[in-house]
Amino acid sequence: MAKVGLYIYTGDGIGEALDIAALTNLAQKEGAAIVKTHDDLYSPAGIQMVKDDVEKEGVDRVVIAGASPRYEYKDFDFPGVYIEKTSLRELVVWSHPSDNGNNEHVQELAEDYIRMSMAKIKKVAMPVPEKMEAPSQKVLIVGGGIAGMSAALELAEAGFESTIVEKENELGSFAAKIRKQTPIGPDYTTLIDPIAPGLIAKINANSKITVKTGTELARIANVPGNYRASFKSAGVKSEWDAPIPLTPEEKFDANGKELSAEDQKKKYNAKNEGRQDYMQVDSNAEIFGAVVLASGWKPFVPAEGEYAHLAWGNPNVVTNHQFEDIAKKGKIVRADGKEAKSVAFVMSPGAKKDDFDFPYASAVTSISALKHAKYVREDYPQDGKSYIFYQHMRTPGKYEYFYKSLQNDEGMFLTKGAVTEVKDNGQGGLSVKVEDTLIGGDMTVDVDMVVLATGMIPTTKEEAVINFAYRQGPAFRDLELFQGYCDSNFICFPYETRRTGVYAAGGVRRAMTIEDEMEDGTGAALKAIQVLKAVEVGHAVHPRTWDYDWPDFYFQRCTQCKRCTEECPFGALDDDEKGTPKPNPARCRRCGTCMGACPERIIGFKDYNIDIVGSMIKNIEVPDDDEEKLRMVVFVCENDAYPALDIAASQGKSWSPLPRIIPVRCLGSVNVSWIKDAMSSGMDGVLLLGCKYGDDYQCHFAKGSELAGKRMDNVAESLKSLGVEKERVKLEQVSIDDYDKVSQIINDFVEEVVGMGPNPFKGF
Ligand code: SF4
Ligand code: SF4
Repeated sequence: MAKVGLYIYTGDGIGEALDIAALTNLAQKEGAAIVKTHDDLYSPAGIQMVKDDVEKEGVDRVVIAGASPRYEYKDFDFPGVYIEKTSLRELVVWSHPSDNGNNEHVQELAEDYIRMSMAKIKKVAMPVPEKMEAPSQKVLIVGGGIAGMSAALELAEAGFESTIVEKENELGSFAAKIRKQTPIGPDYTTLIDPIAPGLIAKINANSKITVKTGTELARIANVPGNYRASFKSAGVKSEWDAPIPLTPEEKFDANGKELSAEDQKKKYNAKNEGRQDYMQVDSNAEIFGAVVLASGWKPFVPAEGEYAHLAWGNPNVVTNHQFEDIAKKGKIVRADGKEAKSVAFVMSPGAKKDDFDFPYASAVTSISALKHAKYVREDYPQDGKSYIFYQHMRTPGKYEYFYKSLQNDEGMFLTKGAVTEVKDNGQGGLSVKVEDTLIGGDMTVDVDMVVLATGMIPTTKEEAVINFAYRQGPAFRDLELFQGYCDSNFICFPYETRRTGVYAAGGVRRAMTIEDEMEDGTGAALKAIQVLKAVEVGHAVHPRTWDYDWPDFYFQRCTQCKRCTEECPFGALDDDEKGTPKPNPARCRRCGTCMGACPERIIGFKDYNIDIVGSMIKNIEVPDDDEEKLRMVVFVCENDAYPALDIAASQGKSWSPLPRIIPVRCLGSVNVSWIKDAMSSGMDGVLLLGCKYGDDYQCHFAKGSELAGKRMDNVAESLKSLGVEKERVKLEQVSIDDYDKVSQIINDFVEEVVGMGPNPFKGF
């Protein structure tokens, strides 16, 4: 039987604000075998006090009642001992100053947090890691451009083997086919020779790197640590790259209109979702521990008839990519062989205010235009003329030096302005009309050639660069949210994809310069190493990197409703032949979304499950003799909303003492049974604070917050049908920098509930 020690920190104002003796008695009554206080609990002496009880008194469950769980989280880390932390500092004392000496509400708050933590600690079991036996330590790199090569070299330096799969017959991709490269070091003004050949030579000389050129990935099956990759010759079909394609009819909508490439991809993914036959594993597949997806980008080439006002289709109007090809061959000349001594670089397609950029334009297109303009001046130093017409000139960081150096060149003309027309000037050249220029008024210039600053399309947008043998379908989901870029969370987790163990680098992640690609390859390589280590020891990857637990399913009661398999953001759950979920712990990120989704309540973790949180709720004391003392539960996402509360408290913000905060891994993990538990155990309202959702979502687990929103809509309807105001259950989106608003959000909710009065089911 577990022996619980509960330790109360009395520093930082806790000892003065609270009746510590009463808290001690309460903890003992709730079952703590040892209760001690310390005014400097996080000091070596305080930690030693707890350690002594662990080693000498056999304490194996510890509750630290003091600072936020986010504070000094590693100090109390004793092998085999479960540590629970409850916040008396931020959530009680700092955020609830005494009301003219009356501390009754604050004391009740602290006592509830002690009850809740005791309820939890009595029910948790120590997580048992799911270790993989001899996981592969080798990394598959899809794409041999700068990002892929950089990843391979970094991995090799760290001692890891990798295989680069490149569909072209040579490594290097576009970076190997350029004339010059923008500077990557001081003085940042001179173009340099491409670095790709140097990287290729290093790759070829490195015994830890295997290169397969003219090869594509056909299918990837299994889990991190044991990915099974099947290859095929580039452009050739193989039995392992056989998701069912859309039929010609399926490429059109009900009105006979052809679906966009993105919509076709979505439909194709949905068509293959859940296909059992596609889940087979190639017995000859090669085994890898992790994948770096660096399949790069494709140049955007306008379709015939597009940009007619820019004379697209005229042989002397080219894209920036085509211009680089011309430059690589020698001097800048036109298709008819005439020297192109004056060139206009058109950075934006027109005058319409909402159409400033070509698709997939970025800082790279600005920087490329500057580089190409310099080619013209290098080829024709006497009489060469470069005109750059832009709406946005994006030259981040040191590229500003490069930009400035060109501004000083008298053969260079740069201005903001809308290029409204390009046409044949009747004299063998083109006339370019520019309106609203920065220098004032409109202008027209005659040039030999026009270059359109078209962007870089990620290969993940249209191509099947990776074919997963996952029940969730062969491609990444939700790419349309990010215009086809392969990234699960731009802000917080660069390199992450929605498939654990697969890390994106380079042009599939965002448009980037060669220098950025090198850095990106390094970042993705580090992430790959992290997952190799994680599967070896059995803990989660980011963001719950320390978590050794994984979800347990009580399959006897599974109805095969598939909610968990469909809602898992990371494709961690397959189906077996009967449609029962088949967990893949190495893919799991421990978000708990499956637990929140399961109507049978049969999914849970050893220290976070339906019963544990339900017990915490039921242990909140409900004063039924005082109408003033309403009670609410606030489920708070631990990733953003909870830190926002901590920050608010540390800045002296306060909120009503009526609600009780329960941190959750993600709002996606909130099961509706907890709402029912709360309402039936006398809570007067339930508030959920989670990450922002929508196209620029911020949720660490992709869609948890949004899924919770949908579930809560259903809860609200059920409440309404019972005659309970649906406003008693509410979800608010909070980001970490909303620390100045979060206390008001809570107070507004409390005010609303107080206005409604007690939950009509209170006391039943
Ligand atoms: S905890 Fe999250 S990642 Fe793991 S199986 Fe459940 S939903 Fe998927
Ligand atoms: S959500 Fe629950 S009941 Fe439905 S398939 Fe998953 S485990 Fe089974």
